[in-house]
Amino acid sequence: MVSSRADVKPFLVMEILEEAVAMQRAGVDVVHFEVGEPDFDTPEPVKEAARRALDRNETHYTHSLGIRELREAIAAHYREAYGAPVSAEDVMVTSGTSPALSMLFSALLNPGDEVILSNPYYACYPNFISFAGGIPVFVDIRPEDGYQLRPDAVRARLSARTKAILVNSPANPTGVVLDGTVLAELTQLGPLVVSDEIYHGLVYEGRAASVLESTDTRGAAVLNGFSKLYAMTGWRLGYVIARPELIRAMQKLHQNFAISASAFVQRAGIAALTETAADVERMRRTYAERRRFMLDALAGLGLRVPVVPTGAFYVLVDFREYTSDSLALAYDILRKAHVAVTPGIDFGSNAEGYLRLSYATSIERIAEGMARLGRYVADLRQS
Ligand code: PMP
Repeated sequence: MVSSRADVKPFLVMEILEEAVAMQRAGVDVVHFEVGEPDFDTPEPVKEAARRALDRNETHYTHSLGIRELREAIAAHYREAYGAPVSAEDVMVTSGTSPALSMLFSALLNPGDEVILSNPYYACYPNFISFAGGIPVFVDIRPEDGYQLRPDAVRARLSARTKAILVNSPANPTGVVLDGTVLAELTQLGPLVVSDEIYHGLVYEGRAASVLESTDTRGAAVLNGFSKLYAMTGWRLGYVIARPELIRAMQKLHQNFAISASAFVQRAGIAALTETAADVERMRRTYAERRRFMLDALAGLGLRVPVVPTGAFYVLVDFREYTSDSLALAYDILRKAHVAVTPGIDFGSNAEGYLRLSYATSIERIAEGMARLGRYVADLRQS
């Protein structure tokens, strides 16, 4: 009945979340460390812009590439934040970064084309690549290297079929920010560098460079979205910055398969880019406090974090002394300790035995979750 193409691996974090929510419905208090989404309300100026757009009846299809003013605002954001020479023509707006990934790889890959990416990786990447007919080619990243992608290791995996190198910084699940020099070196290797910059702005030490500081759209394509930085996961808004022939190819896919992103949501996106600096800084500072709190609590429990995360809102914790089956461990912690965590195996073989904890929840909930995790681990150590 179901095609072999549709036979993709489930996104395990969603499965854990769905089980956690079912437990809550049955009256169990669950601490959520699994979800990759801000707990903050969307900033008021964004909601206000959407309300105004609705009142103006901006409820129709838009241009398939997106509303002109939003494309201008995205281009201006990349010019101002990174000095990148981006113009509105280089931008296509989508209903989230996820469809942007799908459109980009569909426009880029012929059957058998290879895309190099790190392992661990964001869980959905290999599925986007395979679904578009491509082949994911993994490069191990190691705690000893601070989970930095090594350009020489990438070079060793280049082949005649390599079409792109996919990077994500700040990264899910490691929280690591790639060195600007690494990004620059990757752009020298030849294939298009596809840079998922969705966690940009959520950086607590140092700075995240955009790939467009090292090259232009001839050498790179950028994916980004509003979900994380502006606490807008449910609005579904993202974009791609790419060279003209890719934009045109993606536009045709978009016209056919999505038509356009939502009109009033695009208006809200303009407000996010231009009116939320204070809200974003407040959220960033709060994440920074939570990060410190969670790292200290983990250290207090004697749990190992091999590389201190400096961006996004995740901590990858080493549980290999307790298990080599992170999925079973995650379900056991959920059922016994009522703490939802994401199994490392969702992010590739190099994260097996690890759990990803998100600190996109309040300090009070982090404290409660850590106390529960502490009791669970103490039991494990005794048995
Ligand atoms: N890229 C990365 C690295 C992510 O973590 C996520 C969300 N978990 C996405 C893309 C997709 O985000 P959205 O579709 O909400 O824009």
